Amino acid sequence: MSAYDRVYNFSAGPGVLPVPVLEQAREDILNWQGSGTSVMEMSHRSKEFTSIIEQAEADCRAVYGVPDNYKVLFLQGGASLQFTMLAMNLMHGEADYVTTGSWGKKAIASAKLHGTANNVYDAKEFNYDRCPDLNSLDYSDSASFVHFTMNETIQGVDYGADPSIGKDLVCDMSSNIGCRPFDVSKYAMIYAGAQKNLGPAGTTLVILREDLLDRIPENLPPMLDYKVQADSGSLYNTPPCWAIYMCGLVFKHLLSLGGLEAVEKNNRAKADLLYSAIDNSNGFYGGHAQLPFRSTMNVPFVLTNDDLTGEFIKEAGENGMIQLKGHRSVGGCRASIYNAFPIDGVEALAQFMGDFAQRNS
Ligand SMILES: *Cc1c(COP(=O)(O)O)cnc(C)c1O
Repeated sequence: MSAYDRVYNFSAGPGVLPVPVLEQAREDILNWQGSGTSVMEMSHRSKEFTSIIEQAEADCRAVYGVPDNYKVLFLQGGASLQFTMLAMNLMHGEADYVTTGSWGKKAIASAKLHGTANNVYDAKEFNYDRCPDLNSLDYSDSASFVHFTMNETIQGVDYGADPSIGKDLVCDMSSNIGCRPFDVSKYAMIYAGAQKNLGPAGTTLVILREDLLDRIPENLPPMLDYKVQADSGSLYNTPPCWAIYMCGLVFKHLLSLGGLEAVEKNNRAKADLLYSAIDNSNGFYGGHAQLPFRSTMNVPFVLTNDDLTGEFIKEAGENGMIQLKGHRSVGGCRASIYNAFPIDGVEALAQFMGDFAQRNS
């Protein structure tokens, strides 16, 4: 364990944050940069907080490469509220949805309350172990957008790259935003609840192409209207100040690491270690996703002898590796290894998996 007695935290969300970010937050907690108050106690209209949110947006744009014709919003209500909000704002009667796991199912179910949401593809028959080629699907000509989930957090399936299909794409990137470089210009809208791969719970990042604002219906509830939120710079009401500040620190940290190319390299190395531990276990462990769609963020796996799962999770915990239990809907195990998860923790888990398999074979 580290000097702070931190465990290896494989939580799917809220997930691990970078230690330098937490150290900076600790440094700032009583007195942010000589202001005499913490970020939690400042007016959201103060010059101090204005500088914090403006810097967070600037660093977000820098690290993700957000083009000038996109708005960057820090909203509330989690990714789940975006399921509703994007439908209310952007679905002018009809939209197409591609479903590759549990979150995609929730997204389309929410959209159906606001119009015709077509399920143009559902990986259910494959038990959600893959993503389709988005170019091979039939879309409705009257659909306002095509929605998909880049990385399904529970099933651990990831498209792996930005699709390009000549349609307005709306993408839930909650569990893998910034896990690799991505091309914002390929999307009409990207959204991500912060608490997986970005910051603490409390804010949801929305990156939205500006022209979409002109198509928003009149008289939406102001809090749920992207135009109202964009025109007020995410300050229509009191925003989640602390969460935005923390996201800002994470963006700065990612820039200091060398940006998303460096982050991707590290993520690849971590994921390779873990998938090798599964693949080289002579069937003691089994993965879920088909090879090309293996997530580098969420790695669900089973013990082929499921009777050993409880003991595996218990012993891992005794060895400082926590939150390895699979999602309650699918069982088994899941190791979430977000950007901030340290590679030595993945090495420790891979080692433990090998030892455990040897002792119990
Ligand atoms: C966690 C998650 C959500 C839901 O996020 P909330 O912020 O809890 O609403 C939606 N989509 C994906 C891909 C997720 O991982």
